Amino acid sequence: MQLGSGPCHSGAAVNLVWRGTRGEPAQNADKWNFLALPESERAVASGSCAPARDVLPCPRDCGERLVSAVRELEFEDAVSGCPSSVFRLTSLQPWHVSRVRTLHASLSFLTPRGSRPGQRSASNRALRPQPGSGVTPAFSRRAMASGPAVLMRLVASACSIAQKAGTIVRRVIAEGDLGIVQKTCATDLQTKADRLVQMSICSSLVRKFPKLTIIGEEDLPPEDVDQELIEDGQWEEVLQKACPTQYLAVKEEDLVVWVDPLDGTKEYTEGLLDNVTVLIGIAYEGKAIAGIINQPYYNYQAGPNAELGRTIWGVLGLGAFGFQLQEAPAGKHIVTTTRSHGSKLVSDCVSAMEPDAVLRVGGAGNKIIQLIEGKASAYVFASPGCKKWDTCAPEVILHAVGGKLTDIHGNALRYSKDVKHMNSAGVLAVLRNYDYYASRVPESVKKALVP
Ligand code: AMP
Ligand code: MG
Ligand code: MG
Repeated sequence: MQLGSGPCHSGAAVNLVWRGTRGEPAQNADKWNFLALPESERAVASGSCAPARDVLPCPRDCGERLVSAVRELEFEDAVSGCPSSVFRLTSLQPWHVSRVRTLHASLSFLTPRGSRPGQRSASNRALRPQPGSGVTPAFSRRAMASGPAVLMRLVASACSIAQKAGTIVRRVIAEGDLGIVQKTCATDLQTKADRLVQMSICSSLVRKFPKLTIIGEEDLPPEDVDQELIEDGQWEEVLQKACPTQYLAVKEEDLVVWVDPLDGTKEYTEGLLDNVTVLIGIAYEGKAIAGIINQPYYNYQAGPNAELGRTIWGVLGLGAFGFQLQEAPAGKHIVTTTRSHGSKLVSDCVSAMEPDAVLRVGGAGNKIIQLIEGKASAYVFASPGCKKWDTCAPEVILHAVGGKLTDIHGNALRYSKDVKHMNSAGVLAVLRNYDYYASRVPESVKKALVP
């Protein structure tokens, strides 16, 4: 939705009209869309077949009025155009809630900066379904099938959340106080950015998706999260794509989200900022199925006025987006590996690949980006140390474009909520020609790395 842009209709009330994309009877509820209109234009719109996602901009300066207007709004089945199929928001049933939340999230995006988010949650409560609705069974059947699948809504939110995370990572650098803390040793660090970003990601996700299992890298004491860290937007680009059929019925409570708020912290503290990524991986039945990577300092070479940062996202069976897929030069074996967590085992394994070149860079996310952008042909890390939150999102992006990520033995990694966090048997990731690299892992390395 394009809320919040374009000319303003100052002070107008907003009405929501629910219609099929081409005015057809809304049998296929996936094609239903919201249309927000100023009151004065409602009569015109409800008699027409406005295109999908044609959301008129709402007044920028009246976020809270807008939210309270929503409480009073009616859903109109504009397909039939029939006044009898107008429902007051307060008479919605539970199966409407996801649609209402989607709507609310979009509208609250319009809330002016500095307004109190507490007021938003008050209107959230008002949007909760009331018992004793007079909604007809036919309508309920259609609505049950309506709206984007949970997985796509989650990915759409995670893209917005990851993008905000990127802004936090840059802000901490700009403010100059990294607040570095050693975790287990001098190469295992945590900064203020790791802490703030994890709070932002986890709190933002849990608000919209309270039944998720979320596992974040950082061990943080429970504390109230500053509302300024909460992101409630969602990427329309994601919502517009069809969910792969195998994930249509996936429920929120079946998903496990692995969060690495800042991958490449060591490099972040040393100013190698382009090594850094924010990783949000989503797993279902132990398999990594969706991933989001934000690279806060992407484009830094383009000069001081360049727009920094990008978000790469992907879903198995759908593809990966936000970058240009490129393969490493044919016939060349360019190995990327750790620069901060080396060991003899790591070097032995890299040498066994008979590489034409070795790139030593920080971050698991960064190394997968090197693979999909043709800078490296294999990511080889024959060591424990890398965790599930390091590999979940990057693995999806790589798999979505036909690559393969395993441990050093060739075993798939599992991401259920009860797995151990450490990838004890290392990582081998390749875009093309996986067998070349897998066949060269020395037996001595395999023996030393027990899954
Ligand atoms: P690297 O390739 O060294 O940047 O590591 C990739 C990811 O694994 C980063 O998030 C590291 O923090 C993590 N990692 C790898 N080895 C270790 C280790 N020995 N101790 C702590 N973290 C590690
Ligand atoms: Mg990491
Ligand atoms: Mg990290």
